[in-house]
Amino acid sequence: MAMSAQILDGKAVAAEIRAQIRAQVAAGLAAGGRAPGLAVILVGEHPASQVYVRNKRKACVEVGFLSEQHALPADTSQSDLEGLIDRLNEDPRIDGILVQLPLPGHLDAEAITERILPTKDVDGFHPYNLGRLALRMPLLRPCTPKGVMTLLGRTGADLAGLDAVIIGQSNIVGRPMALELLAARCTITVCHSRTRDLAGKVRGADVLVAAMGRARFVPGDWIKPGALVIDVGINRNPDGTLVGDLDYAACAERAAWITPVPGGVGPMTIACLLENTLQAAQLHGARPAGD
Ligand code: NAP
Repeated sequence: MAMSAQILDGKAVAAEIRAQIRAQVAAGLAAGGRAPGLAVILVGEHPASQVYVRNKRKACVEVGFLSEQHALPADTSQSDLEGLIDRLNEDPRIDGILVQLPLPGHLDAEAITERILPTKDVDGFHPYNLGRLALRMPLLRPCTPKGVMTLLGRTGADLAGLDAVIIGQSNIVGRPMALELLAARCTITVCHSRTRDLAGKVRGADVLVAAMGRARFVPGDWIKPGALVIDVGINRNPDGTLVGDLDYAACAERAAWITPVPGGVGPMTIACLLENTLQAAQLHGARPAGD
């Protein structure tokens, strides 16, 4: 059967966003402002984290941000890491501080996240920023769910009143995703590993966001015809290629819109990190053009 879904091309949308940010940074510099600055902290040598950090750094440089990287040894102490965050909190050149997760087990990731000044929390993971999102007065929004909202916006669909199902309840994806969709006036159902009748819940979804981290878990016959379907999952096949949480070809036969993996949500996450860093710079008075 031929595919019917239109593809939500995250790679293309992310490229547009990056071009807009690049232009705003250039205009800000021309007007005598300073470049937004992002500091990325990597503790230890987690291979996937090294790739993510490299990609974030590259994206920063391309849009003209000041990009600073702090690669710390795996045995860095809690107090040394907190000391670095304190210095970056005070540093007027730095608008965003990103601590690449996961951290080595001896470090307290929650305490580290809370140590970051909320206006420099460009990942949007600080309880202050999640609380503001919960109260419908967002400041810096978690990047992946924000990227999903941008993609859903590109469908032109009116989300108000739609039934949205999110699979996954993590602090970085599922939960803030639910808050975003609730703020957009969807009726939300958040599913997790203890959910009963997952298939039945997904079958009722006008909007489905799969963020479970299980390769090709969602079959095509779970998809409500005409649904907006977003695949956040990134799973690595034995041959190194990436797949999402959906059986993509089968789901695409029924969905109205669908995101591919790779090239869907992934590039949007980095684009939103850049957006958040620009927003933080504006909060800190760097005044890039467009303010
Ligand atoms: P996570 O912390 O492992 O959370 C996974 C969630 O899925 C949990 O809430 C878990 O339920 C739920 N789940 C797992 N198996 C399930 C099942 N069989 N039925 C129903 N629910 C199930 O993962 P995460 O950090 O949120 O990331 C999720 C996925 O998104 C991963 O593949 C990750 O690589 C990807 N990701 C992509 C991006 C991007 O930029 N595209 C960004 C972040 C993450 P419990 O809570 O009950 O355990």
